[in-house]
Amino acid sequence: MPIGGRKVSPTAVEKESAVVASPISGREVELPAMWNRMFEPRVLSDYGPDGFARLRDMAGGGGTESLEWCYGCNKCVPVCPVDLVGEYGPRKIHRKVQTGVDLLEDPDLWLCTTCGNCLRVCPKEVDMIQIMPEAREGALAEGNVPSELQDVFQKTFRYGNALGENPRRRAQWTRDAGVPVKVLPKDPSPVDVLFYVEDYWSYHPRGQEAARAFARVATALGVDFGILGHEEKTLGDSQRLAGEKGLFDSLVEDVAATLSKYEFNRIVTPDPHGFNALVKEYPKRGHTFEVLHYTQLLAPLVDRIEWQRELNLTVTFHDPCYLGRHNGEYDAPRTLINAIPGIELVEMGRCRENGYCCGGGGGGMWLDGFTRDHTTERLSERRVREAAATGADTLVVCCPYEVSRFEDAAKSTGNDHLKVRDIIEIIDEAMGHGPAAS
Ligand code: SF4
Ligand code: SF4
Repeated sequence: MPIGGRKVSPTAVEKESAVVASPISGREVELPAMWNRMFEPRVLSDYGPDGFARLRDMAGGGGTESLEWCYGCNKCVPVCPVDLVGEYGPRKIHRKVQTGVDLLEDPDLWLCTTCGNCLRVCPKEVDMIQIMPEAREGALAEGNVPSELQDVFQKTFRYGNALGENPRRRAQWTRDAGVPVKVLPKDPSPVDVLFYVEDYWSYHPRGQEAARAFARVATALGVDFGILGHEEKTLGDSQRLAGEKGLFDSLVEDVAATLSKYEFNRIVTPDPHGFNALVKEYPKRGHTFEVLHYTQLLAPLVDRIEWQRELNLTVTFHDPCYLGRHNGEYDAPRTLINAIPGIELVEMGRCRENGYCCGGGGGGMWLDGFTRDHTTERLSERRVREAAATGADTLVVCCPYEVSRFEDAAKSTGNDHLKVRDIIEIIDEAMGHGPAAS
């Protein structure tokens, strides 16, 4: 049985041949299967284009019309992570809209993680990364949004972070880092790297551990960096993809105003979602920066790392959708992993371009309760079982959403033996900063 094998492939219902009476002569003719369909009622004549027209005419300004371009080749469905735990994929959504379902009222609207795997294979470029945020914006305008997501929007609006934490606590993680971390509002002198910590590395206990590890590793490598401390707000990409474009636009202006106060050469962030926003969305609004994911900063410096420990770990690596598929970076994390002494990397079947989504993108990070009601299991649970099947003892990640998601999933699937760690934590340990390897 495949991992997470609750998915049952549909059974073909076509007969190999059929006998059909001619409506003119009445004579019976035997036809092969490929022609049987010709004599079935055609749904296209039963339904109108209203569902597509509603999407196409939405106020958001374009992007939703590509759903109409689907010609049913079905390439998207087998690669859609949600279809493996339910019934999903652009073709199925196209079909639902075609047969009269209002997408703005349907639970399917909130299940897409905008992972981008369907767009990778779609010959018609049906673009769920455009369709979903815009349709969600329309649903939001009608007050139709899952309550857990609404809660995150309100927290982000009020506190500038998705967790509803006090902005004054943004830099608290630095206290136990073991190295000094420059907080730019206190010391506004120029830095090479503006380290944009983002929400989960700032506030989540497991994220804070990774942030401290980054500070130690970057300091050891002589990286000149500073953080924004209480002036940092989330870059807001997941809120945008979940439909809150207005909130995103206001965050862009706030963030750009804050960044304009300081002198730096480049922005480095651990968050692939924030990275995506800075690379693709901020420039559209007039704010262009040199941006690196932290793995891209460290990979060229790897030869300068003075390793102190050999770790003896077998690991597997989960590609974050917004670093890999959306921004084409697959090698920097692997360069780092392969450089760590005593590490053996075993790839999962679904990796790199075809990496399986953890379920956190596009607002999915905050929709676990909702998705639980509409899928057979969480994407993170399915992914953890794929990771465990490789025989690895550690699942390594480089997205702040993933450590907590996968740790929960490891517990709920009975794979407690599988440790989940950010790459930076393992580098830190092998450099002799963290706890000794067990
Ligand atoms: S791959 Fe594209 S054209 Fe083919 S079924 Fe999916 S959405 Fe339609
Ligand atoms: S973007 Fe990902 S989750 Fe959404 S429909 Fe496409 S493959 Fe499925």
